[in-house]
Amino acid sequence: MVRRVLLLATKDTIAYSRRPGHEAVADGARLLRTVPAELLTARVTVEDVLTEPSWDISPASMLALARRARDGILLDGYDGVVVVHGTDTLEETAFLADLLAGAAATRGGIVLTGAMRHLDDLSSDGPRNLASAITAAADPLLAGLGVVACLNDELHAARWVTKVDATGVAAFSSAPFPTLGRVVDGHVELLGTAPPRPPRATGEPESDVALVKTYPGIDPALLGAVVDAGARGVVLEGTGLGHIPASLLTTVAELTEWDIPVVVASRCRTREVDLAELGPLTGLAAAVGAIGARGLAPNKARAALMVALGGGGAVRAARDWFGQL
Ligand code: ASP
Repeated sequence: MVRRVLLLATKDTIAYSRRPGHEAVADGARLLRTVPAELLTARVTVEDVLTEPSWDISPASMLALARRARDGILLDGYDGVVVVHGTDTLEETAFLADLLAGAAATRGGIVLTGAMRHLDDLSSDGPRNLASAITAAADPLLAGLGVVACLNDELHAARWVTKVDATGVAAFSSAPFPTLGRVVDGHVELLGTAPPRPPRATGEPESDVALVKTYPGIDPALLGAVVDAGARGVVLEGTGLGHIPASLLTTVAELTEWDIPVVVASRCRTREVDLAELGPLTGLAAAVGAIGARGLAPNKARAALMVALGGGGAVRAARDWFGQL
């Protein structure tokens, strides 16, 4: 039976042309026409979705894409969904979609893709990425793996993928975690084991979550300032295994007492560290109430805290939720 794939087309580098005589921005239908018919492994339905450039995307647009991808499978019965997205924040939208996918993740493939080169650049990577993403979304092997990013013929788990290079076509990496698979000759080859599925998401994610990078000499007043500005939760980007300057501990304790969860991630790629096990000195953040990011990169920890806060409750609920991530 012919597999059916929904293509959600936002417009970013993958759709831009710069040469005179070319339409400046391709819509989804034109993007799809760049894929030779013999490479299409599914019947594709296009939906053009208006969004900002991905470096300027709002949480509302990201959540709308995540929900449409989920509903495409659960409500409309597509076998898979491809989301065409700018590469700058593709990983954030991918992870939000993963956290919100629920049963859709077990029924079909949700695949985000984009491009590093414009549509009319020599050897543009866009048409190839789109072809591979459609192949992946239609492949039954993806059901159960969760949301993936497909670029440069590689499949990356939403939880692990990061844009690591702002210019090359090999711009995305999951390292030190495994690349999940590849698209080869019109089918998916699995290479690694997918991360465990996240806990069930309930309610409406909370968009007002701040992400603060820590540094030697950081003024603790900065943390208070983001909460004064309305943040309902804070992610701190620490160092190493999840260390933050001791000058922040009193404020972390205060925020926790006010029921504002503080999650500590790291600027390094780390394993799933339990903050409380970091030892008597470095584990102080946990002792005053901080929640460990379970190895998530800071931007992914922010997405997770947004979703965790949607379930109602604050510190305790967020702690429980992160404990199951
Ligand atoms: N500038 C783009 C973005 O916002 C880059 C891209 O489209 O890939 O993500």
